[in-house]
Amino acid sequence: MKRILDILARGVGFVKHNPQIIYTLFLVVAIPLAFFFTSEQFLRVASDNQDKQEQNRIGLLQDVFAVFAGEKLDEPEILRAYVRDIASKNDGIVNFQILKRGEGTSFAVVVSLNDGEEGTMILLDKASSEIAGFALGNPNKYYAWEFYAGGTRYWRGIRAIPNTTSSVVDTFMITDISMAYVDTVARKNITNAYLTLGVIILLIIGLLARQARIIDYATLYARLKEVDGMKDDFVAMAAHELRSPLTVIRGYAEMLGEGEGLSEGGKGHLRNIEHAAVQLNSLIGDILDVSKLQEGRMSFRFIAVDPTTVITEVVDSFKRPAEDKSLQLFYEATPLPTVSLDIDRFRQVMVNLVGNAIKYTPKGEVRVTQLVADGRVSIRVSDTGMGISAEEQQKLFQKFYRVKNEETQRITGTGLGLWITLEMVKNMKGTISVESIRGKGTDFILSFPVETGTKK
Ligand code: ADP
Repeated sequence: MKRILDILARGVGFVKHNPQIIYTLFLVVAIPLAFFFTSEQFLRVASDNQDKQEQNRIGLLQDVFAVFAGEKLDEPEILRAYVRDIASKNDGIVNFQILKRGEGTSFAVVVSLNDGEEGTMILLDKASSEIAGFALGNPNKYYAWEFYAGGTRYWRGIRAIPNTTSSVVDTFMITDISMAYVDTVARKNITNAYLTLGVIILLIIGLLARQARIIDYATLYARLKEVDGMKDDFVAMAAHELRSPLTVIRGYAEMLGEGEGLSEGGKGHLRNIEHAAVQLNSLIGDILDVSKLQEGRMSFRFIAVDPTTVITEVVDSFKRPAEDKSLQLFYEATPLPTVSLDIDRFRQVMVNLVGNAIKYTPKGEVRVTQLVADGRVSIRVSDTGMGISAEEQQKLFQKFYRVKNEETQRITGTGLGLWITLEMVKNMKGTISVESIRGKGTDFILSFPVETGTKK
């Protein structure tokens, strides 16, 4: 008893944790059952109709025959010819007798399909002789009913044949129609219907089994998304919390630098601290940007500006790092039409692109050029650096993607910069593309629509 309760409790627990199973079970049971009942109903209606049709056929046949026969009751030869003719033209008629009332359940055979019966007395079963009594009492009605003999189903019809020349009604006919053929066909149809139903049910179960798996995947996906969301929340929260102590570190480092009494060695250490703090700050900034962009929480304050000012400012800020690597850095600022941009985000985009160009160019130059065409301003950041293969270009703008080879091995980075850049550019209604040849250099091309009404 305890075991059964245990199993039950475990079952309930399983269903609680996997509610989709109820839905699946419901479908697996309900849909086949619905199919089963519909088919049953259909077959029953079809069989009822068939029986009604047989009943009507007997009635019609007997009504018509009674009119002919009523005039020829004194001429059994003609009646016999009629009976045989009708039997030969109507499949399934296995017995056709014209009988005259006798004593009790015994009747005189006037005409019969069965050889050797004519002129003899026969006995009818109780039901038939009773119905014959009714029929003779109601000469314009026919009586039809179903019976079984030797495993075969028959319909028997009884109707009086009123004599047109006398008012005495003492003659009637019995017609038996075998349903063997109809029943064989019906049985075949039913078998076929159930076979089809079986196949359909199997198909449905198969489909549902797949569906159940899809539901499992969907549940798993929903859970993964939940966990992913939790992870993003945690990362955003942690990055935010890291900012405050980092600001404190940078503040004290700055104070130390301003103060007197630091040895040359100490100043070097302090510069390292400051450099690491700046790097950490930019990493935290990237992480926070990713989480904001992902959740659509990053706000953009658009103003119509000539981008050259920001580009000049960014290029100037990279003069030192370029010099440190003995790279030439060029930008020729000529006025551009105004573009609707968020200056801070656009600056960030330019910092990422120029910064990468310097970072991934061991020797040569980095050049920023601009072009106005077809109502768009294009800004191209070109370098003569290591380049990116066509295959890698496909994945370049994915989050965390970094090209991995001997050259990039020693260069640190997170693979977030280009993803952030792409998202920001898209938010500012711009596009970004890349053209690069491995070993020769790379061009990143930004394109923004010119502010309407300010086209030059
Ligand atoms: P990170 O620089 O932090 O690795 P990014 O998203 O800015 O991340 O860049 C992704 C990758 O694209 C880099 O790791 C680098 O391999 C490649 N890349 C970006 N800019 C250039 C460039 N100008 N030249 C060559 N490779 C580049």
